[in-house]
Amino acid sequence: MRNTQYHIIISIDYEIFGNGRGNVRRHIIKPAEKLFEIAEEFDIPLTWMFEVGEYEFFKKYDEIITRRYGYSFYEEIKNQIKKFYRDGHDIELHIHPQWETAEIRDNKIIIKNPYLSFSDLEANKISQIIGKGVDIIKGLIGKHYNVHAIRLTNLPWTEAPPHIIPILERYNIYIHSLSTSSNIKNKCGYWRYENSNVFEIPIHSIPTRNIKFSLKGWQALIYDYLYTRGHKMPSLRKSKEGYDKKWDLCKMNFSELLKWLEYGIRRYSSCTNNVPLVMIGHTKDFFNEKNLRKFFREVKKVYQNTVTFSTFKEFSKYLEVERNE
Ligand SMILES: [Zn+2]
Repeated sequence: MRNTQYHIIISIDYEIFGNGRGNVRRHIIKPAEKLFEIAEEFDIPLTWMFEVGEYEFFKKYDEIITRRYGYSFYEEIKNQIKKFYRDGHDIELHIHPQWETAEIRDNKIIIKNPYLSFSDLEANKISQIIGKGVDIIKGLIGKHYNVHAIRLTNLPWTEAPPHIIPILERYNIYIHSLSTSSNIKNKCGYWRYENSNVFEIPIHSIPTRNIKFSLKGWQALIYDYLYTRGHKMPSLRKSKEGYDKKWDLCKMNFSELLKWLEYGIRRYSSCTNNVPLVMIGHTKDFFNEKNLRKFFREVKKVYQNTVTFSTFKEFSKYLEVERNE
């Protein structure tokens, strides 16, 4: 019997804030550059979850923005994403639908509904937004490029709603990654959406205790079921976010980063296949160089035989095999 192989996928949401606030150089370009440098130092590929709605918006208002801020948000993001790709990093899709109707008034970015969720939209609209996102990435990287993974929002930390799955298939996107790990369908670090070729690869997380409202596995399943079918459950929605503590490279110190890895190794030790462990991070939250470096050094030293650093693009090869079985 072969040993379980664990694949750490470091997925970084590349964006300013969902309400339109933030400074592109401070919250994206500079921290992303720092992350890129550290990754290069350890020869680790990162997966950039590129917020395309925001990028498209910056492109549309490029003249006004450049005049107002003294540099082009659009050009700097474009060049950075291209550079990351050239250097072997993975570029995947992240979309906040609220950018669709955003505008600039009196030199200010106005987001009409910062909490707009994909589960609020009609299938046609969803398809149009995702299709546009795919085209934007192809436009940057090349027509040959396939998007492998997507992180939709503003869903709570759940699977994608079922009516979105056929749309993802239509664009050959076979990975969605937003749910936390405690979904009971999660046996070996990912699961397949029913009657489809799409897989959920959750953000690796540990259920936390001492949370007032903690959902057990079956409760979480019912919750996900209702929520993804359009039922609004605001009080639950809030507590759900505290339920699973996500593996976050921006918010954890070295020992937590390591503890989450060890938990993943224990939890999936009976799996004989390849197990993905997705870490999340946000450019706007990244001030954690020291801990991250220490973590990379430790993993490369101690876990070199069982753990590799991977990307959604790389991992999609294993899923392709599984799809064709
Ligand atoms: Zn985001």
